[in-house]
Amino acid sequence: GVVAPLIDLHQRIRVCVRKRPLSKKETMLGDTDVAPVVGARTIQVNAPKTRVDLTPFTEQHSFTFDDVFDSNSTNTDIYRRTALPLVEYMFSGGKATCFAYGQTGSGKTYTMLDPQHGLYVQAAYDIFAMLGQPQHTHLSAWVGFYEIYQGQLYDLLNQKKRLVPREDGNSNVVIAGLREFPIKDVDRLMEVFDFGSQARTTGRTGANNNSSRSHAVLQVLIKKKKDSSIHGKLSFIDLAGSERGADRGEANSKTRMEGAEINKSLLALKECIRALDQDKRHTPFRGSKLTQVLRDSFVGDSRTCMIATISPNNPNSEHTLNTLRYADRVK
Ligand code: ADP
Ligand code: MG
Repeated sequence: GVVAPLIDLHQRIRVCVRKRPLSKKETMLGDTDVAPVVGARTIQVNAPKTRVDLTPFTEQHSFTFDDVFDSNSTNTDIYRRTALPLVEYMFSGGKATCFAYGQTGSGKTYTMLDPQHGLYVQAAYDIFAMLGQPQHTHLSAWVGFYEIYQGQLYDLLNQKKRLVPREDGNSNVVIAGLREFPIKDVDRLMEVFDFGSQARTTGRTGANNNSSRSHAVLQVLIKKKKDSSIHGKLSFIDLAGSERGADRGEANSKTRMEGAEINKSLLALKECIRALDQDKRHTPFRGSKLTQVLRDSFVGDSRTCMIATISPNNPNSEHTLNTLRYADRVK
């Protein structure tokens, strides 16, 4: 029979797709699944297209990625093939980043930051197991949590204080004043995360939830105990909803501006990841605050994993197609 090729989980850039199941509501509304997964690496999407004579029809598009996770995949399945290799890489002394990209409602937060089984929680179990090993007693874990909204950084662990990133002489990005907490076990990490999440969903002026309009960055640092210097770093990034950038018909100027800013940062991100793959000498970090802050994730021997999350149902097929096209460009 045909043997599937072994995939190198330690490749520099991995791009995966995760399709969530139809929700109860979508099923009730009679939505159908228009994004069949074909094997372990290929997904199709049937998206509407309007002909010049205005007769609508659908067109089938096919994409191949490093992994395609069907709607029955668990966060654990995904963890093993996305973030786990990055945890190992961080312990070997490297910098790694794991992104969730997709439209609002497609499963970014569920995948990355779900407090029960999100990738960050599963990574935490392995991180503390590894820190308990004799060869790692000189290391300890720290965590920082911030969001990027409208090109500004806000510290989620310090009352949304505005922060300014700077570069030190060693191409490290230093976010001056970012509060970092030492973390001794998974419970403590989850406590700190919970604290930050509450700040994230509360607007400064009230209960205005802007979580789909900001990028959230949870960064785990492994530091040397003796001088607090950084040994390795792993960032979990729950990106702003990708549909924001595409919506040109937004009613008010605030949401239009937010859309433009998100669009800019997601485009800059795509360019930076592509440059990483091509070993380009020039990487356009300065295209956005997001990529500027992530600069050290794009230089040297860093590792990146992007998980593009998609909704399966027909009303979202155009967003799904956009997401797959974006992910395809990054790969
Ligand atoms: P996003 O962060 O992209 O806006 P969410 O992660 O909040 O999307 O997911 C939207 C809804 O779908 C949530 O209620 C979430 O629990 C549910 N969901 C997302 N992905 C899955 C999945 N793989 N399995 C089950 N439910 C999911
Ligand atoms: Mg979300």
